[in-house]
Amino acid sequence: MDAIDELVANNRSFAGALAEQHLDVRPTRRLAIVTCMDSRLNVFAALGLRDGEAHVLRNAGGVITDDVIRSLAVSQRRLGTREVMLVHHTDCGMQSLTDDGFRAELQEATGVAPSFAIESFTDVDADVRQSILRVRRSEFVPHRDVVRGFVYDVDTHRLREVSADT
Ligand SMILES: [Zn+2]
Repeated sequence: MDAIDELVANNRSFAGALAEQHLDVRPTRRLAIVTCMDSRLNVFAALGLRDGEAHVLRNAGGVITDDVIRSLAVSQRRLGTREVMLVHHTDCGMQSLTDDGFRAELQEATGVAPSFAIESFTDVDADVRQSILRVRRSEFVPHRDVVRGFVYDVDTHRLREVSADT
């Protein structure tokens, strides 16, 4: 059995143990979280979140790409969220590659240079600050008063806030 088959079986037990419910499509905490795809970061458990409470947008590095701005625009303009929480983390896979190196690797393997930015980084705090600025400067996202950034330590499970202004 491959991994996906196991998860499909897991879902049968999961759904079987729960009563049917319908939650509002609008997150009750009026919050959107942008974070990395890292498999060690269980966003719901680490932040004490429950179903229906927040949007969670994930990609490699928790980068504020055009597509993340698209999702935040929908989240705020149609689904009522007001705060944005950015969660980057220690030991990120994006720290183990470089933009130029990975771009060259993709081009060499496929013959095509990618149209997207790689967005690797070395300094996680600087990367969080950059992400806060990108959200704050996007007029597509109307509510930018509360945009806060954090680093999650994948070993200690602790969250540390990064000031946007240093
Ligand atoms: Zn990561």
